[in-house]
Amino acid sequence: MKVDIKEVYMNYHTLENSTRALDNINFSVESGEFVSIVGPSGCGKSTVLNIIAGLLKPSSGEVYIDGELVTNVSPKVGYMFQKDHLFEWLTVLQNVNLGLKIQNKLNDENSLKVIQLLKNYNLWDFRNHYPKELSGGMRQRAALIRTLALSPQVLLLDEPFSALDYQTRLNVSDEIYKILKTEKKTVLMVTHDLSEAISMSDRIIVLSNRPAKVKKEFKMDFCIESISPLKCREAPEFRTYFNMLWKELNLQQ
Ligand code: ADP
Ligand code: MG
Repeated sequence: MKVDIKEVYMNYHTLENSTRALDNINFSVESGEFVSIVGPSGCGKSTVLNIIAGLLKPSSGEVYIDGELVTNVSPKVGYMFQKDHLFEWLTVLQNVNLGLKIQNKLNDENSLKVIQLLKNYNLWDFRNHYPKELSGGMRQRAALIRTLALSPQVLLLDEPFSALDYQTRLNVSDEIYKILKTEKKTVLMVTHDLSEAISMSDRIIVLSNRPAKVKKEFKMDFCIESISPLKCREAPEFRTYFNMLWKELNLQQ
């Protein structure tokens, strides 16, 4: 499912003043593509995701998902944040079923789907455990399965691994990447970690300081086919891409 962002402007209004966060944002994410957004802190990255998710209305411009104008929150879109937002008093199974239950979609077919996701992604044995009994990586996987249970075609990830320690982060980003590719999702991820962006993405969009404009796009082209994020970090092109992005981000300071 394709995402198109067309001439999007965003101004935040408060009682005292008005802040322009986005200044004519244009880009697309192709079906099945993994795109990352990087840019300075406070430039408007989360604003872009919130607009695509239909949680915020842009001041002007449009977002299309699969050619359809976004006017509200859509079941086609899943959203994952830095915090996993799992409920501590619910088991893993209850947590991953929660979205379906709220939407009155916990039928036999969807229940089976959740069981399959838990089995495929190694959480089945922990289905009756509580979130506090899981590692940070397992919690993030459970949060992803809860999102996938609703069958979104487009996934928005806002700094999904920021709360994890470095070692866990490397492994979890690898796992999550494989899940998203296996499930053939279209992904747009915000991250401030350039290595993470390079190792996971097909393409990286660099935003400018606020008000954010699309400053540059980099296509990641590694010589080895279907390389995993962990392996990608060892590829010879990795350093080159890192330096290119580093330069681009530091040019604007
Ligand atoms: P990023 O995710 O890149 O760090 P955000 O999209 O969260 O940036 O925010 C972009 C800018 O818009 C920031 O300067 C922030 O202070 C401002 N902003 C974000 N949300 C609001 C809001 N609800 N009201 C007013 N200003 C906001
Ligand atoms: Mg943000």
